[in-house]
Amino acid sequence: MTKTSSFAAGWVGGAELVGAGPTHDVIDPATGKAVASTSLATAQDVDTAVDVARDALRDWASATPAHRGAVLAELASAMSAAGDALAAEEVSHTGKPIRLATEFDVPGCVDNTTFFAGLARNLEGKATAEYSGEHTSSIRREPVGVVGSITPWNYPLQMAVWKVMPALAAGCTVVLKPAELTPLTTLTLARLASEAGLPDGVCNVLTGTGAEVGAAIAGHAGVDVVTFTGSTGVGRQVMAQAAVHGTRVQLELGGKAPLVVFDDADLEAAIHGAVAGALINSGQDCTAATRAIVARPLYDDFVAGVAELMSAVRMGDPTDSATDMGPLISAAHRDKVSAMVDRARDGGIRVVTGGTVPEGPGAFYPPTLLADVPEDAEVYRDEVFGPVLTVSAFDDDDDALRRANDTVYGLAASAWTRDLYRAQRASREIRAGCVWINDHIPIISEMPHGGVGASGFGKDMSTYSLDEYLTIKHVMSDITGVSQKPWHRTIFTLPQ
Ligand code: NAD
Repeated sequence: MTKTSSFAAGWVGGAELVGAGPTHDVIDPATGKAVASTSLATAQDVDTAVDVARDALRDWASATPAHRGAVLAELASAMSAAGDALAAEEVSHTGKPIRLATEFDVPGCVDNTTFFAGLARNLEGKATAEYSGEHTSSIRREPVGVVGSITPWNYPLQMAVWKVMPALAAGCTVVLKPAELTPLTTLTLARLASEAGLPDGVCNVLTGTGAEVGAAIAGHAGVDVVTFTGSTGVGRQVMAQAAVHGTRVQLELGGKAPLVVFDDADLEAAIHGAVAGALINSGQDCTAATRAIVARPLYDDFVAGVAELMSAVRMGDPTDSATDMGPLISAAHRDKVSAMVDRARDGGIRVVTGGTVPEGPGAFYPPTLLADVPEDAEVYRDEVFGPVLTVSAFDDDDDALRRANDTVYGLAASAWTRDLYRAQRASREIRAGCVWINDHIPIISEMPHGGVGASGFGKDMSTYSLDEYLTIKHVMSDITGVSQKPWHRTIFTLPQ
């Protein structure tokens, strides 16, 4: 996409929505220029979309699992066929390097959709049985209803897929709001879903601001579950909005992942893992390695190795397949990242590499390594969400694990060691939704993603995510045919 085009304010009931909200430009962060423009959706559109989703619910919830699975399988094929266009569109508004979009985002989305196409036919529950001896008890897993989803800008397509596919597999209908900065691929996903045979009204997308459209979704009486991915602060607002109607919520929030390198680790592997883990998506990844905690004997070599690799990273035009790292999402976000690093430097923290905003257009910020970072430093405690890795030394395993857990977040972590007992201890004691051993970042559709503490609760991906979109109903049927049941005497006794 090279010139400004207009796009729909939403996809509702299987058709484009004309927006009545404020005019909004979608910006390419690599150039600072607009790539698309629209009038956004409004809170009134939320009412319409929720009504449409509720109307569509009865038929979609009662469609056979085989039918739901077949539609999702068709959508996975359509996404795969449109893969290059989807990747280019994702790059146009996120600035992520095209290699990341083509090798990670799009195939990840196709695989996730394929996984849920199969899972749609595989609902699990307790065995039907005569637990009381006088009744047959069975469990029904039923769709929770209309799902309101709100997603962030860092992986717009993946986040939409992570929310939409388990919901559709479970038989729910969806109203989803992507981030204002990155609505394009989510709208394309909804169109592809319609073309793949998803009935009108089952998957609806609304652009719009968080304050208006996001808040209206989270606080809507017609929404049965709110699934949110974004910052911890906004997640808490969403939870408060949903609480007005007692609506279920699932929150995937911020992170501050530690990367713990023990003194027996493969140092080369840890250095490569730290650079890849810290720089993926320009560090705008909730599971990114942000705090390297390194055994003192390896510390100097680790710092030197990471700095050398970071300096070799090719930052530039995200559409060039030779580019390793693109810009940050916006100039405003780049300025926030830059200001945090400046404050660290002003506070005496050593900037080993990076740390200065380059000349020229675009929201670029270089790979940055901050060494000897104390535990009370802002860059150590708060989410930077940029290509910034802090490193600090530890002296014994107890101290390493204490430091790893010294955060309000609990999304992801990694431990680097060749000692089986250390690996087992780290995986047990680190408080996080995921602990990698000798790697950092890989995800797979079969395994859950989600955090603890300030990183939220509930799961995306895997069979576990279906629980967010299903209710559990117990059906208990008398099998005795007796009108005066023995247990009635506890409540009333018959006249003698
Ligand atoms: P954000 O919280 O600013 O926005 C997320 C979404 O919420 C956007 O669509 C936004 O428009 C909407 N929103 C804003 N205010 C709202 C309100 N009052 N009510 C309802 N919706 C509102 O997050 P972001 O800046 O888009 O994304 C970055 C954040 O997302 C980081 O903190 C990152 O860690 C987190 N994240 C977490 C995960 C995870 O799985 N845990 C994944 C990706 C991103």
